[in-house]
Order: sequence, then structure tokens, then C-alpha cells
Amino acid sequence: METHIILVVGSILLSGGCIGLLIVRFTNPFFQGVGWLGASFACGALGAAVFTLRFGQNGNLPLSLAYGLILLALILLHVCFLEITGYSVQLPRLGTVVFLLQALAFFVFRHSRNIREVSIAVFGVAVAAQVTQCAWQLKKTNQEGMDAPVWFNIALLVGLGMFSLARSAIVLIVGTPTNPQLPNPLEATASVVFLGAAIGLGFGVFWMEGHQIRLKLEHLASIDPLTGIYNRRSFIALCEQELLRTSRSGEIFSLIMFDLDHFKAINDRHGHRFGDVVLCEVVEKLRNSVRNIDIVGRWGGEEFVVLLPNADAEAALIVAHRLQYHVDSISMASPRAHGMEGENRITVTLSIGVATYFGHDPTITIHDLLHECDSAMYQAKAEGRDRIVSVNAPLALVR
Ligand code: GH3
Ligand code: MG
Ligand code: MG
Repeated sequence: METHIILVVGSILLSGGCIGLLIVRFTNPFFQGVGWLGASFACGALGAAVFTLRFGQNGNLPLSLAYGLILLALILLHVCFLEITGYSVQLPRLGTVVFLLQALAFFVFRHSRNIREVSIAVFGVAVAAQVTQCAWQLKKTNQEGMDAPVWFNIALLVGLGMFSLARSAIVLIVGTPTNPQLPNPLEATASVVFLGAAIGLGFGVFWMEGHQIRLKLEHLASIDPLTGIYNRRSFIALCEQELLRTSRSGEIFSLIMFDLDHFKAINDRHGHRFGDVVLCEVVEKLRNSVRNIDIVGRWGGEEFVVLLPNADAEAALIVAHRLQYHVDSISMASPRAHGMEGENRITVTLSIGVATYFGHDPTITIHDLLHECDSAMYQAKAEGRDRIVSVNAPLALVR
């Protein structure tokens, strides 16, 4: 197919894409970066359109202008990725430099008709520099769970950069046809590659967006917003996975459930907001009392749970004591103490239940284990609070 037909088709496709993206941008606030992608498509569409002018005039001016617009499209794509990955929207430094160089080249080549090859080669190097910078930023900011779409975009960017460099080399070595009206397979291939890359990268941006929105929703659905630890639903799901694994492997695990003693009184005296601060402080102590592989969750209200993989009853009891020790050290100054002159420091105690799963028992469900743990915790309450009751440890150690 002739190059100018590809360019006209490309320009129409990119214009349509740009309109669609701008509609998404203004109707859906969840989609980050699509406005920049729309602007990038607009520059690409304009670049392709200006490029077609060259076939009528044989001029260097449309050529340089088209190259400048395509380079600007790549810089705006980079800005789009910056916004998606949560970076402040700023013009990429290297992109700005290569764009300015291209603009400088525009004035030089405008007055010269015999260095077209150099102009094309400079453009190829500028594209390669810009897409490499963009790919590098994507790799640097890649987050867990985003591998597939991020590497898809990186592959496209690197492929485009390599093609641009190869095209520059070919043009410098072989030269360009003196009559631009003649068929030029390299130009036709370049048009198809650039158009294909634009469509592929547009798809890649939406793939990244989709993945990111899914991860955000999963995070919102599984994390307790106050304390930042797992909520009951996801904690149970993780326990079920652990039970499935250990019932096959024969490994053991333990559960700890604890409740803050007389927490309602803290709320009543010092206010609900201060109660929230106390809950967060307890969670901080909880995190410091367990290993990295242990899973902590908020069971509800002022009740928390811990899953301790590979921990027997004694090991779990040691963790429970460590937790109790850390929480005992809390001594917080309340901003206000209703009717309690001079009494504005609070201390916290816990009632803790511990239960252990000994592996290889397919009849036990996670709800049975959590129920055992819950009963032990209520026994600790009934026995006077501020203590630990273990279902399986040889001695229930009472302080
Ligand atoms: P006990 O020793 O028997 O556990 O007494 P308690 O006062 O701790 O238990 P109770 O069930 O009577 O009260 C629990 C309190 O926890 C009541 C509720 O307002 C408070 N609470 C639950 N969730 C939150 C929260 O997210 N923030 C704050 N500040 N308080 C909460
Ligand atoms: Mg309580
Ligand atoms: Mg409670």
C-alpha cells in the first residue's frame, strides 16, 4: 500500500481514538492519564496528516513539522504513563531535550534540501531516546501485580525504539529516493510500525488502567481502612488457604484472637476519635510482636486476629505474651478527659485466646478453629480480663 494512504488511514484512526479518549477522560474520573493519551493521539494524527503534505510538495518543512509532532506525541504518552503510575505530571526531561533538538533541526533542515537523510536519522535517534526513557520509567515504577501490562508496554516501546534506530541506519547507508512520489518500502513500513505502535500502546494504557483499578478495588475490599490490616473477610480467606495447605502437608499453625478490655470506657471518656488512635497504636504493637509471615487482621470493632503459620501452641503462647507485653507498655496522653481532672493518660489491657491446628485433619474447618479461639478469648474475659487462655498449650498461663 502506498505510504500516503497508510498515513491518511492512520490519521483518521488516531483522530477517532483521540475523541474517544477525551470522552472517557471527561466522563470517568477513575481513568488516569487518558487525557494525556488523547493529546498524544491528537499530535500523532496531526503528525500523520502533515506528513502526507510532503508527498505533494517535496518539502523539508512538513517533514520536520511531522517529526516534531510525532515526538511530541511520544512525550505526551510518557506524561500519560507518569500520571497512571502516580508520579507528578511533569514533562520528561530527556523528552524535552530531544524535542528541542528536533525543533532546532527543523530550522536547520528547513534551509537545506540535501541533508534529508540526516534529518530522518536524527528523528530516529530522538524517538529511540524518548521511548527508552519512557520504558525505563515504566520498569522503575512497576508495582506488584502489574507485570503483564507494564511489560507489554515496555516491549512495544523498546521495539519501536529499535525499529527507529534501524531505520536511521538504513537511511544513512542506503539514502532516500530523490523523488518522494516513488514507492518507498521503508517509509511504508515505518508508517505501519508507528501506527501499529500507537494502537498497541493505546491498548496497553487501558490494560494498565484496568489492572490498576482491579488492584485498587481488591485492596479496598480486603483492607480495614482505619488500621490498614486485613478485614475479617480476607483474613478468613487467607486462613482457609492455610488450612487447605497444612491439611495436605501436615504442617501446623496457630490462631490468636484478642479483644481490648473495657474499650467502651476509653471511648466514653476520651472520645471516639482518640479511641481510633488507641486502636491504631495497638495494631502497631501487634505488628511489632509478630513475624513477617504472620497475618494480622481486624475481626471487628476492638477485636483482632493473627494467623501464625508453622507455630505450635507453645510458640503461639510466646507470641501472645510478647503482644501483651508490648500493649502493656502503651501509655497515651488523651487530648481531653471528660470529668477526669488530671487523669488523662490511658493504658490498655487485652483478653487473648489461642488455638492451634495440628495438621492432617480434614474434618476441621477454619470456622471451628476460629470458634475455639473465640471461646478461649471469652474464657479470658470471664476469668477477669488482662490474660491469655490457650486451648492447646499444656498450661494456660494466667498473669
Ligand atoms: P470488654 O472488656 O467486655 O470487651 O468491654 P468493652 O468495653 O471493650 O466491650 P464493648 O463490646 O462493650 O464495647 C466495645 C466498644 O468498642 C464499643 C464500640 O464503640 C467500640 N468500637 C468498636 N469499633 C470501634 C472503632 O472503630 N473506633 C472506636 N473508637 N471505637 C470502636
Ligand atoms: Mg472489648
Ligand atoms: Mg469486643
